[in-house]
Amino acid sequence: SEPRKPIIAGNWKMNLNHFEAILLVQKLAASLTEPQLTEVETVVIPPFTALRSVQTAIEGDKLALGLGAQDVSKHPSGAYTGEISGGMLAKLNVSYVLVGHSERREYHDEDDVLVNGKVKAAFAVGLTPILCVGEGLVTREEGTHVAHCTNQVQAGLAGVKAEHARQVVIAYEPVWAIGTGKTATPEDAQEVCKAIRVKLAELYDGEVAEAVRIQYGGSVKAANIASIMAQPDVDGALVGGASLEADEFASIVRFRE
Ligand code: PEP
Repeated sequence: SEPRKPIIAGNWKMNLNHFEAILLVQKLAASLTEPQLTEVETVVIPPFTALRSVQTAIEGDKLALGLGAQDVSKHPSGAYTGEISGGMLAKLNVSYVLVGHSERREYHDEDDVLVNGKVKAAFAVGLTPILCVGEGLVTREEGTHVAHCTNQVQAGLAGVKAEHARQVVIAYEPVWAIGTGKTATPEDAQEVCKAIRVKLAELYDGEVAEAVRIQYGGSVKAANIASIMAQPDVDGALVGGASLEADEFASIVRFRE
């Protein structure tokens, strides 16, 4: 099987208006060469209100930068005030969408059934979901974090066929490490990412398991990315806070150098 291409994605969360977003993309483009941006697939995930501006900046300057959204409705269209459909995102040349980020699960009561609906809604319009899973501190201390995360993967992919499952990106993000400055050790990240791959082999087959890219997320910085990426089952990173600084994010993308 072909080696998995690393994927580094920057989740900007609820930060930056659309002018600030264009500025950040331009700074990022100035800090990274085209080979750097393509050898490691690099994706920015702005808020909805900045997607159109960022898309225009990417296309206008022919930047080798991927575009993602932070959420998607499980519905294709209709009377769902305030929601954004996958079709609307696809029309903006969005390629990726975060599904089940811990902040959505925690502050918007998203459960595995809803997350599964969003995963399916994304695939239905050709978007690639970045399915986020991860345990809280209590689960980690109880020692049931591996089962917690593999169960979230199984539930998130329920009813998803192999041809789609092989395209999914999974982000393992221990909730206790998100925005806290606490990073999982590379060994902790590897333990769960490996278990997720084993689960994918069980749910589908070895070919799907080897194809799926699994990211680590949780206080990733330029200073810790190399040791995390050195783990065999970690194929990338989902970066929050550090993705808002062009130089820091560019250094993360250059983790091999
Ligand atoms: C995230 O938002 O997915 C994340 C990992 O945030 P941070 O890098 O700030 O911990």
